[in-house]
Amino acid sequence: MERLQSHVLGRWHDAAGDLATLVDPTSESPIAVCGSGGIDFRAVLAFARDQGGPALAGLSFAERGKLLAGVAGAIHAKRDELIEVSIRSAGTTRGDAKFDIDGAIGTLTYYAGLGEKLGARTYLLDGAQVQLGRTPRFSGVHLCVPRRGVAVHVNAFNFPAWGMLEKAACALLAGVPVVEKPGTPTALLAWRIAREVVEHGGLPAGAFQFIAGSLGDLLDHLGPQDALAFTGSSATGAKLRGHPNLVRRNVRVNIEADSLNAAVLAPDVDPGSETFGLFVNNVVLDMTQKTGQKCTAVRRVLVPGDALSLVRDELVAALARIVVGDPADKATRMGPLASKSQLDDVRAGIERLARAGTIACGGAGPIRPQGYFVAPTLIVARDGRDPAFHAEEVFGPVAALLPYSGEAREAAVLVNLGGGGLVCSAYSNDAAWNQAFALEAAPWHGRVWLASDKMAEQALPPGMVLPQMVHGGPGRAGGGEELGAERGLSFYLQRTALQGFQGHLPT
Ligand code: NAP
Repeated sequence: MERLQSHVLGRWHDAAGDLATLVDPTSESPIAVCGSGGIDFRAVLAFARDQGGPALAGLSFAERGKLLAGVAGAIHAKRDELIEVSIRSAGTTRGDAKFDIDGAIGTLTYYAGLGEKLGARTYLLDGAQVQLGRTPRFSGVHLCVPRRGVAVHVNAFNFPAWGMLEKAACALLAGVPVVEKPGTPTALLAWRIAREVVEHGGLPAGAFQFIAGSLGDLLDHLGPQDALAFTGSSATGAKLRGHPNLVRRNVRVNIEADSLNAAVLAPDVDPGSETFGLFVNNVVLDMTQKTGQKCTAVRRVLVPGDALSLVRDELVAALARIVVGDPADKATRMGPLASKSQLDDVRAGIERLARAGTIACGGAGPIRPQGYFVAPTLIVARDGRDPAFHAEEVFGPVAALLPYSGEAREAAVLVNLGGGGLVCSAYSNDAAWNQAFALEAAPWHGRVWLASDKMAEQALPPGMVLPQMVHGGPGRAGGGEELGAERGLSFYLQRTALQGFQGHLPT
């Protein structure tokens, strides 16, 4: 049994007091304990502000980029070992483990490259100088500098590698030290990664601290230069956003929460076409990859009414081919859910949706004697507008098939009933249909993904979050924004309007 430690104040801390037990979701055997008792969180923040912050802020973007490349290299060197840890502790198949770990390495590497591109400077300019006086002698420019605080990152259980390191990459490149708190059910993998980050020794003291367990009273000590970036459920996000100290001191908060992502098939798509094949493959991938525990996974599948039975049959046949079982077995395509509470939530969610439709395959019942397994489940809605399908995320291998008229605007209106999403995807070879859909769906989504025969062969799936493009979404999705190349740094930078003699302004 592993005993996870926190890395604070430059050393590993063994928890005092209560410990949470982590369980292998395949065998239900306890595998680790963790806790954060005995940590002085005020001192943790001071250590980051006093040591990590100045050390990072004193480096150029290129130098910080090199630090990220070093972290990426250290994790890559342990990739095989980390994949095994993920399989054992998070119930991921080998493919799902790689998705998380390679996503982390890829994002770090991307931001390392961005640092190199930004070069020797320590600040960024937002836009060009503007003339403010009669002549350009009196001008202004927007300057972005690292804030002199700490970035506290509260991460969800479903991406212990990628979720933690995409946030860390942006903050560290911006010049701000981080305190990382993983979701407890899968903290074993996050802790193993934290060990590599610490032991490779490339980061300045205080730049990276790691809490295995709860945050104690840490949020009470955040101040005006600090930032909290949270990923998890809307309920926890709302609680943290309303934390009295964060409200009183105007601490920056970014929330990445849940989302009822949708895939929409347009009426023009021929069932024999590449676009149709991509649609079926992507829906099945999203439902089953990481056992549906992906914030970007499709939860609602909109299909013109007259294509509903064809699509249902295609999806049911494809889902029947997904081998569910022990993730360590090479033939397995889908492992268990990550925890018992996940299993309970997903079963309750399936039962809730089934009351408003018909189960086409799967269901809430047990499928193996041991482990937190649930079958891939497709539910056909009686009424596409039924709020049951637009109100609550079921965070597992579950999707609902909803009929609609085939009209682009109606599709977007239905998709928007989700109340704000991370991503929605549409499949059409009709440019006018795709554009009409995109313009109507965009205000409610952080990302709109348009498929057609023209891009099918080289498309990366809509569930994949790319560092070049922003991630986040309005409303239910938390209202936050991450990544998107340089845009991902702005949460950690202070933008200041600098006005004065043109010759005194930075260029
Ligand atoms: P969660 O229960 O809300 O927990 C998220 C994180 O918040 C965990 O680290 C948790 O720690 C911590 N936490 C819970 N209560 C807290 C409190 N009072 N103070 C400080 N921290 C607290 O969510 P989850 O079950 O881990 O993750 C699943 C959810 O995340 C899904 O709804 C999914 O859609 C969403 N998600 C969103 C994105 C995105 O990018 N938008 C990405 C991934 C996941 P403990 O684990 O120790 O309780």
